[in-house]
Amino acid sequence: MSPRHFERHRTERIGWLRAAVLGANDGIVSTASLVVGVAAAQATHGNVMVAGVAGLVAGAMSMAAGEYVSVHSQADTEQADIERERKELKADDPGERKELTAIYVGRGLDPALAAQVADQLMAHDALGAHARDELGILQAFRARPIQAALASAASFALGAALPLFVAFLAPEASLIPLVSGASLAFLAILGGAAARAGDARVAVGALRVTFWGALAMGLTAGVGALFGTVA
Ligand SMILES: [Zn+2]
Repeated sequence: MSPRHFERHRTERIGWLRAAVLGANDGIVSTASLVVGVAAAQATHGNVMVAGVAGLVAGAMSMAAGEYVSVHSQADTEQADIERERKELKADDPGERKELTAIYVGRGLDPALAAQVADQLMAHDALGAHARDELGILQAFRARPIQAALASAASFALGAALPLFVAFLAPEASLIPLVSGASLAFLAILGGAAARAGDARVAVGALRVTFWGALAMGLTAGVGALFGTVA
């Protein structure tokens, strides 16, 4: 496999990995904070679990909805650009041919060769050539709203299931330290893995997400304890 081909696949994989890790982080932080907050309000184990499962479902659905809407609007923009390009190709073939040739000259081809390449690519698939080389829309990277929404909801749900599983097993008396401790460990592992995948420093990646997770859990525990005493 050529290095460029491998690099493109690696970039694509890192993109997906980063989105999955961010979704899982969201799931861990928001569900662990919810569980710790409700537990700090002296709720029963059963009520803590109900709140946690409701948080998982609500969070996964809102991630899916948000991702679907944002990726769909990107898909709409791409489609509108391609339709405009189709019209321009029909209306002004010589101008579009000149434009594509100029793009290849800009990438370093001799004008004669650039014109030849543009002619052959336009003869083969004019719209595809313009979409790729003029608009930068690659088939492999086309926006896929449903896949993105499902991937986002799944990664959130997987992340949220981790603190929920610990909460389910933990005895009521030690639920808060066990859930928050385990969640911080999960976050550190995920943060480090994401940093590693992106060739960034593992310790920094782990520390960054653990800090925010701890802050979120600390704040919700405080709010829960406050409401627990006044309720
Ligand atoms: Zn064009």
